[in-house]
Amino acid sequence: MPRTSTNPGTGGDRFVTDAVVPGAHAVRVVFGVGALTEVAGEALRLGSRLLVVAGAHEDAAADRVCAGLDGAAAGRVRDVEQHVPVALAEAAVAQASRVGADVLVAIGGGSATGLAKAVALTTGLPVLAVPTTYAGSEMTPIWGMTDGGVKSTGRDPRVLPRTVVYDPALTVTLPAALTAASGMNALAHCVEALYAPDVTAELAEAVVDGVAALAQGLRGAVADPADLEARSRALRGAWSAGWALGSTTMGLHHKLAHLIGGAYRLPHAGLHSALLPQVAAYNAGAAPDALAQVARGLGADSAHDAGPALFDLAAELGAPTSLRDLGLPADAIDRLADTAAGLDVVTPRPVDRAGVRALLQAAFDGTRPASTPGAGEDQP
Ligand code: NAD
Repeated sequence: MPRTSTNPGTGGDRFVTDAVVPGAHAVRVVFGVGALTEVAGEALRLGSRLLVVAGAHEDAAADRVCAGLDGAAAGRVRDVEQHVPVALAEAAVAQASRVGADVLVAIGGGSATGLAKAVALTTGLPVLAVPTTYAGSEMTPIWGMTDGGVKSTGRDPRVLPRTVVYDPALTVTLPAALTAASGMNALAHCVEALYAPDVTAELAEAVVDGVAALAQGLRGAVADPADLEARSRALRGAWSAGWALGSTTMGLHHKLAHLIGGAYRLPHAGLHSALLPQVAAYNAGAAPDALAQVARGLGADSAHDAGPALFDLAAELGAPTSLRDLGLPADAIDRLADTAAGLDVVTPRPVDRAGVRALLQAAFDGTRPASTPGAGEDQP
């Protein structure tokens, strides 16, 4: 009997699948060009009073969804900001209660999804997400909120969307710079999922395919943002990446990105892009199979080629490769190395201060990692 691919849609077709997220419910995934027209019907499977959360950029898409709802559109939340300020979350919760909403529809990037999740965390309302970037929040039970400049995060199955509708046509407006950085963010989820202790064979298959889909799709989308085939490929890779992010334990890379982003308020996706090649090089000797899979997805050969290949891809796409260019001060490196050395993190190569300091320095300078094992690296 032929083996069925666990990653549907590899032929570029529309697909519908149920993706199981451990510790939470299965997410109904609807993927295809033009799938925005299915959002109203999908939302009405979940409830009959819809509150639509969509920032300014997504206004037109939100209008189209609401037009298909007859009397079921209960209200709109347009005030969307990165990192979900608590005040915005409280205002949205109050609005949901005022209009008697029984389902939340989020249209936008991680910020719109994050606001709907914050409302779900308090109210328990189901969420339908329509992502327009490659960040992956729509496939995770992870919420985040900011209060007085301090970001708190947590996991709760109530915030994991019940349904996610991916329409690549919504991503053609994503500017090249955001496309590149957001795509590198998705690749970071793939890389860390492949060496996560809890990755399953099914997920690994989806993620390996996701690496190749992202690399090809991002190249095409950056060259021509309106190329729907490239956009479909990139978004399909991003859905695998988001599924992996929600289903596995992320390692050193995500800890560092969170640490630096929180302390220095640097752009989320760009940080991922600058750190990822260096973290892949750091772990290459300790996770040779996982990093070799990443390398092959990028058209390279061995685990030690993964870091350089990720660096070359970021450079080709015009995504950030240097923390200095993102605005990190030079004197932050030692402080970050001290903190990182004390982190409780599950990652293939143990975290030692000297190794992490060298990693951070390379990410700061934007140095292309070498294709040979570095000093102090664990060998297979
Ligand atoms: P974002 O949602 O803030 O969007 C960035 C900008 O791009 C915004 O101005 C937005 O309006 C615009 N935009 C979005 N889609 C567009 C499109 N198709 N065309 C043109 N412009 C578009 O950015 P993001 O990177 O998607 O999300 C970042 C946020 O998500 C951060 O707060 C991050 O912490 C969070 N996040 C959370 C998780 C999770 O699992 N909880 C995962 C990833 C990211």
